[in-house]
Amino acid sequence: MIAAAPDKLQALRSHLEGIEIITDPAQVAKLSLDFYHYSPVLSRQLSDKRGDVVVRPADEAEVIRVAAACAKLRIPVTVRGAGTGNYGQCIPLAGGVILDMGKLNQVIWAKPGLARVQAGAKLMAIDKHTREMGWEIRMAPSTYRTATIGGFIAGGSGGIGSVTYGQLRDRGNILGLRVVTLEEEPRVLELRGDEVFKVSHAWGLNGIITEVEIPLAPAYPWAELVVAFPPAGGFMPCAHFGQALGDADGIIKKMISLHAWPIPSYFAPLRGYLPEGSAVALLMAAECSVEPLLELIREHGGQVVYHKTAQEAAKGISLGEFSWNHTTLHCRSVDPSLTYLQSAFPADRELKLVQHMYEYFGDEVLMHLEFIRINGQATPVGLQIVRFTTEERLNEIMRYHEAQGVFIANPHTFIIEDGGRKVMDPRQIRFKEEVDPYGLLNPGKMRTWQERASA
Ligand SMILES: Cc1cc2nc3c(=O)[nH]c(=O)nc-3n(C[C@H](O)[C@H](O)[C@H](O)COP(=O)(O)OP(=O)(O)OC[C@H]3O[C@@H](n4cnc5c(N)ncnc54)[C@H](O)[C@@H]3O)c2cc1C
Repeated sequence: MIAAAPDKLQALRSHLEGIEIITDPAQVAKLSLDFYHYSPVLSRQLSDKRGDVVVRPADEAEVIRVAAACAKLRIPVTVRGAGTGNYGQCIPLAGGVILDMGKLNQVIWAKPGLARVQAGAKLMAIDKHTREMGWEIRMAPSTYRTATIGGFIAGGSGGIGSVTYGQLRDRGNILGLRVVTLEEEPRVLELRGDEVFKVSHAWGLNGIITEVEIPLAPAYPWAELVVAFPPAGGFMPCAHFGQALGDADGIIKKMISLHAWPIPSYFAPLRGYLPEGSAVALLMAAECSVEPLLELIREHGGQVVYHKTAQEAAKGISLGEFSWNHTTLHCRSVDPSLTYLQSAFPADRELKLVQHMYEYFGDEVLMHLEFIRINGQATPVGLQIVRFTTEERLNEIMRYHEAQGVFIANPHTFIIEDGGRKVMDPRQIRFKEEVDPYGLLNPGKMRTWQERASA
């Protein structure tokens, strides 16, 4: 899709002299897409969408020049971190500039408990830096090795570590954001406190984040364990164990990732460890907590089938890369027709709705839960694997969950309101009016904005 006329692109080039611009069609096509293809619905809708050019600023001054030129020339701008989002978040619907933030990748400063970094820094690279002084990022998506901090804050929700620290949307998990506006004379704004929520999880619709200030967590040596449960019991003993571990305040943990059979059969690199038919819990726990953890596992009838010390775990593939949406990745690499849901169960220590959904859908919706902390309580969220048949059936499955009281963050839409948030935060709309008066940032993703523009 070519949106910008050739003369506009020529004018853009002259404004951006000295800044890296990619025009090679194959490269532009590659950098226009993300992991939208996990959804059969988005696959159909988005595969042909392309930007016109990719621009790679090296610092904030260059970001400002790009923003000014695009505002003057009325060229759409879609910001891109590493392009690991799943909902076409950074796929341009109206062509224009793909603003690749990858070169803004510096840790600006770090001190105990706190770091300030450029938005294009990769999560793993930030950790490498802060771990030298015994601290690490509080939470990270399972795409930790490739995703950027700016993309995580603008597009993600939480992940490994959320069992202790909650989600990005919880007050205290993002301390400050520096944002460039999309105006003829761009401004640079520093948002602090609750102001950060004007821009966080707004899919790059509300300004270009150039810097991020985040709190850090103590970097424990994290042991990795897989616990299997006897096949005869099905999934629920594993689920109850997960809840008990989530509730065990004295055990320091970073990940509780639960999988009903046959999901473990898709984890090719772990296959030798995982008993046929067993539900499994993939865990990360502080080494100092392994002893009490083993007691809890015994109490719940689990069997440790894989155990790596932090040192051993650092060498090979991490269990984190089987959790969250990496589970979907492994399943789809064996069977590309599989897709997934994103859901949150209500806090309930008896897990009645989990059991109901597990039994009700049987082999059509395979149970995959991650425990996170919501309002202080260990709560399961689901990234269930779905055996896709039709779009109608997929919608029916999601509606059934909602009707029973399970929250669905629909991962099969590129409209921000139809995903997790349902209605747009009015603060974000007001902020967009201020910082993107021409509606050039990631156009076509916010229904409220489109409706206002056409009213
Ligand atoms: C295998 C797999 C596993 C995943 N696991 C998780 C998980 O555990 N938890 C989770 O939350 N997500 C997960 N995701 C989704 C995705 O990885 C995360 O959202 C990730 O944080 C995105 O980072 P990114 O740098 O790739 O961002 P991108 O995909 O490049 O961008 C995401 C959104 O942020 C915007 N954006 C990027 N940079 C900026 C910026 N500097 N300023 C303004 N807007 C910006 C983009 O326009 C886009 O709307 C997973 C995805 C995959 C494919």
